[in-house]
Amino acid sequence: MQRTAASPGKSRGLADLLARLGITRDADLVLHLPLRYEDHTRLTPLTSLAPGLGVQTEGVVVNTEIQYRPRRQLTCLLADPNDRSAQLVLRFFTFYPNQQKALTPGARVRVFGDVRPGYHGAEMVHPQWKVLAADLALPTSLTPVYPTTAGLTQEALRKLVARALAGDASRTADTLPASVVARRKLWPFGDAVRFLHAPPPHLGAAALRALDERTHPAWTRLKFDELLAQQLSLKAHRQARAARAAPALAGTGELTAALVARAGFALTAAQRRVWREIAHDLRQPIPMQRLLQGDVGSGKTVVAALAALQAIESGMQVAFMAPTEILAEQHYRKLSLWLDGLGVRMAWLTGSVPAKARRQAREELASGTVQFAVGTHALFQEGVEIPRLALAIVDEQHRFGVAQRLALRGKGDTEAHQLMMSATPIPRTLAMTFYADLDVSVIDEMPPGRTPVVTRLVNEKRRDEIVRWIGKQGAQGRQAYWVCPLIEESEKLELQTAVALHAELTAALPELRIGLIHGRQKPDEKAATMDAFARAEIDVLVATTVIEVGVDVPNASSMVIEHAERFGLAQLHQLRGRVGRGATESTCVLLFEEPVGAIAKQRLKVIFETTDGFEIARQDLMIRGPGEFLGARQSGVPLLRFADPERDASLIGPVQETAAQLLAREPEAAQAHLVRWLGGRAEFIKA
Ligand code: ADP
Ligand code: MG
Repeated sequence: MQRTAASPGKSRGLADLLARLGITRDADLVLHLPLRYEDHTRLTPLTSLAPGLGVQTEGVVVNTEIQYRPRRQLTCLLADPNDRSAQLVLRFFTFYPNQQKALTPGARVRVFGDVRPGYHGAEMVHPQWKVLAADLALPTSLTPVYPTTAGLTQEALRKLVARALAGDASRTADTLPASVVARRKLWPFGDAVRFLHAPPPHLGAAALRALDERTHPAWTRLKFDELLAQQLSLKAHRQARAARAAPALAGTGELTAALVARAGFALTAAQRRVWREIAHDLRQPIPMQRLLQGDVGSGKTVVAALAALQAIESGMQVAFMAPTEILAEQHYRKLSLWLDGLGVRMAWLTGSVPAKARRQAREELASGTVQFAVGTHALFQEGVEIPRLALAIVDEQHRFGVAQRLALRGKGDTEAHQLMMSATPIPRTLAMTFYADLDVSVIDEMPPGRTPVVTRLVNEKRRDEIVRWIGKQGAQGRQAYWVCPLIEESEKLELQTAVALHAELTAALPELRIGLIHGRQKPDEKAATMDAFARAEIDVLVATTVIEVGVDVPNASSMVIEHAERFGLAQLHQLRGRVGRGATESTCVLLFEEPVGAIAKQRLKVIFETTDGFEIARQDLMIRGPGEFLGARQSGVPLLRFADPERDASLIGPVQETAAQLLAREPEAAQAHLVRWLGGRAEFIKA
């Protein structure tokens, strides 16, 4: 096969390696910034070598040999040419055959590494080394260490970056108008990247620390630019949306009023407020994109149902999508109950619906006989047509990827409004950055009459006590969940554990009815179990995390989570949210087994101390960082590489102003900036 060279000197193999780092253009090389630096500008003579980190020295090889004890290694003894008693031992535990040849006695070698005292005097393990044929000048700037990938050496990457920086001047030209650079007191872009790739030597301690901590003005410029690219793309997305058409859903108020009357409770003030916001959006002829946030149990479903009815009143169709079969089923039942007798035709569509029923549901959706479809992602598979789709509701949106949401949006003849719901609150700084293209409504109030859940941290050693306690609860007619340990590595093992736990509790609590639900059961089996639990025909439900989202059985007031130290914070919060839904006081027991790692300990402390979902999310963000928190890789939200929404919060305001200003007055600059930062990905984030 012929090799195609992406650019002079870049082989296909190299291009692949670079692509792995997200580098496809020379402009990407310019933005591929160092993780840290090494100081190769100074040389410490062997005669004054002392233990320390990042030391560079030179010597002449006295002897190189392969040793076999205590393990196979190549050792090389260097000495100062003028003072043979000043020596340094180099040790390599992995090495190439020709390495021994290169380090031949008499060769002059320059090495860089950490010096430590060894048995035979000073030594370096796996230093960087270079045989010097002639005098080689020392570099005049700090040496960058880049994020790289197997097969691509630092040396090679440095050369590529240096070439990209030295080439076409447009790559380092400023995308921002001079007035913005001056007003925001920013470093010019070219100066900033040249500085970061090759910082001058002899920087003072303060500048070195700023470089290290990424608070240096050169870093600030890059973070500003990165955040700006994000804001620009989100704002551009929002503008594009405002230019698209969606059905204006005026509604008649008939069905929504009927639902409010028969729900069996009065809406909280917060529910009424968010409902007004959503109803207003739906009446507009442009597509709504609203995120409805509310803590676990705050009552988002009824608000979603009201939105659905407004669309149906307007003669349109609605799709309501949930991330799991159990949850979809539960929504379907609740909605059927609420809408019973109102003349709304519903369909139920998940992967497990038999082919015949599925075909019927599809036909009825396509012909418009069915107005309201509830289901899982099966709703947006090939072949499902919802021609009058006006509103797509996505429950627990963080469980879905952007691609899935988009697929749903493309179902109708015109664009549908989107309502996304999430119980994983997004902290303000993240909302301002990653979610700037969405409108957000927040239910910040719980329905009345809830008693807060009491959380207990209990050592696994006291498991017997907990089993007895569950027995007592059961005797009083109180139902309980017992959540199996999470075993992410092996679904099979998780299943075995669930079955064993079920057997254990059945033996220990013969007077109680113990049920079992896990992800490997057939959907109707799961549904039957959930039903029995909801009808209080099961006292204790042994469950894997399939019950994590949305499940709503108000009479269940106790929960035991085994190996709670293995769960993430959001997961623990969601699980715990399954209890505390009725009037009786609920208890959640977190069983943990020692030893508990530092981060796990932190998580348990947070979940023990607070029940406020927003606070938990904030803590979670601090523990995990935004990438992990958002699951951004799968959601398609561009990750920030350099800026950190929390730490760099002070930049967000100025960045937002700048983004607005550029879009309004300097669209070319905005475009150039987006191309530099997002290149080929600019399309993707239009999601
Ligand atoms: P989530 O926001 O977690 O999805 P749900 O919509 O499942 O919460 O609501 C939790 C429970 O609270 C349900 O049983 C629901 O019927 C009930 N509920 C919702 N709103 C109210 C309210 N205003 N007053 C009393 N109960 C309510
Ligand atoms: Mg819910």
